[in-house]
Amino acid sequence: MLEVLYRIVEEVNAAPDLGEALGVIVRRVKQAVAVDVCSVYLTDFERREHVLRATNGLRQEAVGKVRLPFHRGLIGLVCERAEPINLDDAPSHPKYLFITESGEMPYHGFLGVPIIQNRQVLGVLVVRQRTPRKFGDNEVSFLFTLAAQLAGAIIHAQASGELTRLQSSVESPGRFLNGRPSSPGVAMGKLVVAYRLSDLNAVPDRKSDDPEKDVILFQDAVRRVKEDLKQLQSRMDQTLPAEERALFDALLLMLGGDSLVGQTIEKIREGEWVQAALHHTIEEHARVFDAMDDVYLRERASDIRDLGRRILMRLQTDTPPEMEYPDQTILVGGEVSAVDLVQVPKEKLVGVVSATGSSLSHVAILARGLGLPAVMGVTDLPVGRLDGWDAILDGYRGRIYVSPEPSVRMEYQRLVEEDLKLDRELEEMRGKPAETTDGTRIGLYLNTGLISEMGSLGVTESSGVGLYRTELPFMIRDRFPGEAAQVLNYRKVLETFAPRPVALRTLDIGGDKPLPYFPVSESNPFLGWRGIRISLDHPEIFLTQVRAMLLAASGLDNLHIMLPMITTLTEVDELIRLINQARDELLEEGHGISPPRIGVMVEVPAAVYQVEALARRVDFISVGTNDLTQYMLAVDRNNPWVADIYDDMHPSVLKALVHIVEEAHRVNRPVSICGEMAGNPLASILLLGMGVDSLSMSAGSLLRVKWVIRSISRKKARKLLKAALKVEDSRQVRQIMQKALEQMGLGRLVRLGR
Ligand code: PEP
Ligand code: MG
Repeated sequence: MLEVLYRIVEEVNAAPDLGEALGVIVRRVKQAVAVDVCSVYLTDFERREHVLRATNGLRQEAVGKVRLPFHRGLIGLVCERAEPINLDDAPSHPKYLFITESGEMPYHGFLGVPIIQNRQVLGVLVVRQRTPRKFGDNEVSFLFTLAAQLAGAIIHAQASGELTRLQSSVESPGRFLNGRPSSPGVAMGKLVVAYRLSDLNAVPDRKSDDPEKDVILFQDAVRRVKEDLKQLQSRMDQTLPAEERALFDALLLMLGGDSLVGQTIEKIREGEWVQAALHHTIEEHARVFDAMDDVYLRERASDIRDLGRRILMRLQTDTPPEMEYPDQTILVGGEVSAVDLVQVPKEKLVGVVSATGSSLSHVAILARGLGLPAVMGVTDLPVGRLDGWDAILDGYRGRIYVSPEPSVRMEYQRLVEEDLKLDRELEEMRGKPAETTDGTRIGLYLNTGLISEMGSLGVTESSGVGLYRTELPFMIRDRFPGEAAQVLNYRKVLETFAPRPVALRTLDIGGDKPLPYFPVSESNPFLGWRGIRISLDHPEIFLTQVRAMLLAASGLDNLHIMLPMITTLTEVDELIRLINQARDELLEEGHGISPPRIGVMVEVPAAVYQVEALARRVDFISVGTNDLTQYMLAVDRNNPWVADIYDDMHPSVLKALVHIVEEAHRVNRPVSICGEMAGNPLASILLLGMGVDSLSMSAGSLLRVKWVIRSISRKKARKLLKAALKVEDSRQVRQIMQKALEQMGLGRLVRLGR
């Protein structure tokens, strides 16, 4: 049976469209299980019906016509229970429905298995036998496995609009593909598949006729690709700050270095034809990164292949084809590169979608820098079939609607307009203090990591920087930045905000933030070598960074140093010793350096229960609720399969936060919240009720949270917190908070998933 299963799966995968795939399934399953009928029903969510979409054994005219309302018949029961139903005598079941339209005779044997994806029943795969027959375990699991295959094909069909066409006159249920929200905003436009340049894999292996001539051709191609890149980089000069433009420097460095260029020349001189020599060198380099476990390093492989294709194209043609981009282009691809993105004229580009990557990919960082909505890691993306389709990209929720129905389009149009209107209303909050109606002031700080994220709003509307993620500038380079480069970087932030405080977090690499030039291979990166664990093992990296921070703050005195991922007290003692050492060295070198304020981040459950002792050692506590939630709930914060369980409003997280605030306040240390939770209007009320001293968030959330704070009293926030702490799950917590916001007339602050 396994052999048959394998062959059917292959045929289904090779089918050009869903109709064919369904045809293959019903024909082959009927044969394999030796039944009289095999059919597939698909769910029409809009009309709340199960529709016969393919059959082998029933009349073909019935396809598309037999429609069973939800909960009717045995098909309805399979969907309702979301489990197989196996009956040797179906007509005697109380739910049995006799349908004449399909030419049914009273079939006795019945086995129906649900087709499920992401907890949703997309349809039913059913086999029928004229005589009574109870199906065996292996037949049930056979159908099960095929149903799982079909689920994937159905999702693809939905994405390309094919399902809508298949459902002919039927309205689409308005469904979407899911990915990772990587840059906020909504885009409505046309999908353009990122133009793929020359194909390295198509290059044949050959010997070189004239190696020296090939070397010259190659060097010339590299020179021209460098010029292309520089031109693209300068095109970005006005729109992108130096930090982000460093992405291009990394690519140019690869071309300037010995490894790619030198090795290709070596291969040519050993007799390989120039194009083959390039292909082999690129593959050797890319494969090293391919083999790495983490997403970020794998993306370096795509950078290398992208460069390879560019050089190959220059070897093959003098005039690369000019691409025409429609207005409102949404760039889409299996692996969209940062260079692909900047090739689209800025005025035409409205969004980016990629099947691979995450919010940490170069292209996502770039999209945020340019204010373009982006969704990454859309694993079900049928890239080959998307060019030219209309689409809606929801960067808040990580959704793509391909060929959306007018109802979805209208809804988004309305939301976009509402968003704009809300932005205008929010403008009124500018310049006003973040003060509750009963006079409690809360510090609203900015989370940032790239200079471009410090837009004017972030600078004018914040009380300072509550979290500067120093690893981002480290990630977009190809080596550790030296002391001087770091000083420049930190000085810019410290100066921009002075005299307001700026909390620079020491390097928090590892976990989901590896450095390409500092590869770490672990089976459990989030539980492994990350944050200050690396700093303690590599004091030279930590000391360089702290020296740079202290030097950068000289004369400004607004530096706060924040230590991430603290698990034990000894870690803090050792890190403070190193900070003091760095300061002593600088004093000895004659620099006037005042002592920085030091804070510990509470991100690990162990730190929650030692928070008082931790707080006593430092000046402030900052809670990283993103990681704290991840570690308390044991849910990988980046894993889409468990994204539904990740919830920073889980009652246990709330209780941990209450405890942290109480303990830190006991020793008079202020508490700041700097995870995503701080920028969520619903959660901000709870945090206010807990008595936190400040909230730190991205620029886009500042005015929204300020509006909430200015609309509520601390007393009311405490009351709401008390109510929230009494309920047993986060859904109920949300309901309480949502209701409170609605009553305050601020419900629209959370409707678009902002
Ligand atoms: C956090 O964990 O909440 C946090 C602010 O840090 P990061 O998201 O950078 O891990
Ligand atoms: Mg963290």
